[in-house]
Amino acid sequence: MADKKKSPVEKIALQCSECKRKNYTTEKNRRNNPNKLELMKYCPFDRKHTLHRETKVK
Ligand SMILES: [Zn+2]
Repeated sequence: MADKKKSPVEKIALQCSECKRKNYTTEKNRRNNPNKLELMKYCPFDRKHTLHRETKVK
């Protein structure tokens, strides 16, 4: 498995804007999506759809 240093794909976490929990992890191609992702996703802690913002995975 090649570990390409210049890969445009990076791992991100999607953090709930209400409870601040990181409910989802995904990958995005930052060449196609240079801006922060903001998605309406279901939060099992709030038990509703909330705005989730991209954060770093670590
Ligand atoms: Zn939440």
